[in-house]
Amino acid sequence: MRRPIMAGNWKMYKNARETAEFIERFKPLVSKMDGCEIVVFPAAINIPAAVAAAGDSNVGVGGQNIYWGKEGAFTGEISADMLHAAGAGWVLVGHSERRHTVCHEADADVLKKTQAALAAGLKPVVCVGERLEEHKAGKTGEVLVRQFAAGVAGLTEEQFAQIVIAYEPVWAIGTGQTATPEIASSAHQLIRSEAEKRFGTEAANRLRILYGGSVKPDNIDGLMRQPEIDGALVGGASLDPESFFKIVSVAAPAR
Ligand code: PEP
Repeated sequence: MRRPIMAGNWKMYKNARETAEFIERFKPLVSKMDGCEIVVFPAAINIPAAVAAAGDSNVGVGGQNIYWGKEGAFTGEISADMLHAAGAGWVLVGHSERRHTVCHEADADVLKKTQAALAAGLKPVVCVGERLEEHKAGKTGEVLVRQFAAGVAGLTEEQFAQIVIAYEPVWAIGTGQTATPEIASSAHQLIRSEAEKRFGTEAANRLRILYGGSVKPDNIDGLMRQPEIDGALVGGASLDPESFFKIVSVAAPAR
């Protein structure tokens, strides 16, 4: 049985005070939910505030990005070790807003970042997903196979056992246009079959695959009913404690 993960990506929202306030309000709401893992991904500068507010609660904290170098002349970047030392336990890698906006992250960067995260003791959530034009052209499978091959297949079996994958169709992120549970489920099956080819059946069956893209309190139920969907990566709807609580509480007792 795969333990669900409910994760909130806060993107470039909230300052340190707002980050701490969210967690103070959210913690008691979820304190008895042990049916899933819960993680929030605040902006890097607010990680210490988030870690302090989360304390020893069941709310984990992660970063939204790292650079793969250990240290050096990389102005504006932070390393996996720095993030880990700040108290984060998780990190997003290859989010579409980093692949497809001004950051232009390449598929191969995703592998280097994932390896750096694992070496520092962080749990990476590797994001994959197709753009609207690729979706419309029926190229979802092709994109996912390419992203898996370049970003994940180069891991060792031991490394692969520690990662989580988030399937996030780019056309669903921040658009209000959620993938149907069936579309999401079939993408997850494809990712799992790629994992099986490279890492074997047992490892593929253990892999947790989250769905992300306009997840809201009123659509999480249908998504979490799909056995292939092991949790959610939630953007906009995770910014409010009550809304994120509603999403988490649908998921937690669902297994
Ligand atoms: C995300 O940021 O990963 C995301 C899925 O955003 P939203 O839920 O707002 O679509």
